[in-house]
Amino acid sequence: MLAARVLRRHLDQVTVIERDALPDGPQHRKGLPQARHSHLLWSGGARLIDSLLPGTTERLKAAGAQRIGVYRNMVSLTSYGWQQRFPETQFLYAASRPLLDWTIRDLTLADPAITLRQRTEAVALLGDATRVTGVTIRDLDDGASTDLTADVVVDTTGRGSRLAQWLDALDVPPPQEDVVDSGITYATRVYRAPGRSAGAFPMVSVHSDYRTRQPGRFGLILPVENGQWIVTLSGTRGSEPPTDEAGFAAFAKELAHPLISELIGLATPLTPVQGSRSTANRRRYFERNSVWPGNLIALGDSVAGFNPVYGHGMSAAARSAAALDRALQRNLGTPDLATSALRGISRAVDDPWNLATAQDIFYPNCRIDADDPRLEEELNSQERFTELVCTAGLKTAPVAAAVAGVSALAAPATSLQSPAVLGALRDQTATPAPDTPTLTDEEWALATAEPLDDN
Ligand SMILES: Cc1cc2nc3c(=O)[nH]c(=O)nc-3n(C[C@H](O)[C@H](O)[C@H](O)COP(=O)(O)OP(=O)(O)OC[C@H]3O[C@@H](n4cnc5c(N)ncnc54)[C@H](O)[C@@H]3O)c2cc1C
Repeated sequence: MLAARVLRRHLDQVTVIERDALPDGPQHRKGLPQARHSHLLWSGGARLIDSLLPGTTERLKAAGAQRIGVYRNMVSLTSYGWQQRFPETQFLYAASRPLLDWTIRDLTLADPAITLRQRTEAVALLGDATRVTGVTIRDLDDGASTDLTADVVVDTTGRGSRLAQWLDALDVPPPQEDVVDSGITYATRVYRAPGRSAGAFPMVSVHSDYRTRQPGRFGLILPVENGQWIVTLSGTRGSEPPTDEAGFAAFAKELAHPLISELIGLATPLTPVQGSRSTANRRRYFERNSVWPGNLIALGDSVAGFNPVYGHGMSAAARSAAALDRALQRNLGTPDLATSALRGISRAVDDPWNLATAQDIFYPNCRIDADDPRLEEELNSQERFTELVCTAGLKTAPVAAAVAGVSALAAPATSLQSPAVLGALRDQTATPAPDTPTLTDEEWALATAEPLDDN
């Protein structure tokens, strides 16, 4: 939808080809199985979405999405310890994925020049290795195939994209691909928030310490709209969370701290446990292809998908849409359009790619099939710096602000090496990081209170 919105800023007509029937509201659908799991929209992505589609975050808030101040409204055990709840420097939106999608879809499709063809599948590209002329589409109701012509084609078909196969039919060689797969598995259950905590509870996360070189285990309580908590448990290869109810509860207890287990013990389950394994870091370097159709672009998970624990996929897609916008502005109608767009998109996904893979390589049995030379450097020298910054960020406000900026994809990763951050690292006072969960007495009281009648 963001790609459609951006294309429409430069072109007269945009057609969105969508395999699913799209619901007329914030409901789940078949083609987006990941929507059952927690989705954080970090401020780096939220601000970009608002600039492309003004009013998005206001509508999200009006529909009950929770604005979580980083780190004010976060109770967080990181690999390095409990995070001090400093005043907000970044934020994230906590909402169900169906609400995020519905809000963006409704705003985008309000433009009558953007046409949606639902229950229609893209099956092939038309054209040749220098230029595509459109796509072949198939109507899923009557099975009829037709050719749709277009000046520009953008593939946004997600992780399962068949773009490489479609290109093969045009004699375009396959793109270089990197995969870093920690084997992370997700298990998610939705609860009714306990007591009187609905709309007034922090996000709670518990991570294990990756430096132990044991499989990673993670837990997250994401307070969303309608007084609900989306609770996601996840684990890397060798520590996958079960998807039966008893196993889910037991896994929560075995996290690095039992806080999440204690809190969900107070809450009422509303759904069964759902699992997902579509979580490997996978990046395709289309911009490196020497042969490429000059008007074919890809963005979103079809270019780069990330381990979802870092919550970066949607924000990376928003950054990529903004990069597409810049390329269309400069190069629409020239043979450089695709190259400039794909290079911009590659830069847009580089930080989230590096942040996720540089961490995931340390988990046992992480499968690496990648040429990115930075992975080698990380293994040899960068880890100590990351550890220093992240440990200082638990208890030192300026370092915490820098870490928050990078985590929120609101500041480049290089900002962690700024003179201000390096100075703050040297000036460490002996203030210890919190050594117990940072949930306040008032928050505990809200979670354990008698529910109000209408809760
Ligand atoms: C378990 C899990 C948790 C996640 N958590 C977060 C998070 O906390 N924060 C975050 O930012 N990101 C998160 N992500 C990542 C996020 O879901 C993706 O980055 C994002 O959805 C990518 O958007 P996309 O439009 O590229 O692809 P998708 O959202 O996957 O959309 C692809 C669309 O293409 C359609 N389609 C596919 N093939 C065809 C075809 N041939 N013809 C027509 N239509 C087709 C599908 O029906 C679908 O509508 C998570 C992912 C997973 C798996």
